[in-house]
Amino acid sequence: MNEPPLCKCEVEAILYTLRTVEHYGWRFWGFHLYERNVKDSGCGFFQWFSDKDEKERLIKGQRMMIGDLQAALDGTKSQLRSALIEVMLKKKELKGMKMELYEGRRRMKILCILCFFLFAFNLYLIRV
Ligand SMILES: [Zn+2]
Repeated sequence: MNEPPLCKCEVEAILYTLRTVEHYGWRFWGFHLYERNVKDSGCGFFQWFSDKDEKERLIKGQRMMIGDLQAALDGTKSQLRSALIEVMLKKKELKGMKMELYEGRRRMKILCILCFFLFAFNLYLIRV
């Protein structure tokens, strides 16, 4: 079995689990006051935890983490896809609005020209 080893000050070490990206789930025996933020005041004892199942346990944990990451990635992908579709629809909408605006301007120009001719025609009628 895995009896806790004694640290340099003859106190039983404590089993810690790392949560860093590089060593997620790795376990080690450490100085008993490690977690109380007195890292420098103690003996600084450190020893990787080892037993025959440790590697399997780590691999299983990493597989689970990979599965979680894959699921998160899939979720993000589908979110991205629907966002992309929304952008495309908005673009289409914008294009339609631009066309409308263009058409409105064109009609306005025609009306202006028509008004000008009516005005000129009125002037002509007044003088005659
Ligand atoms: Zn110690």
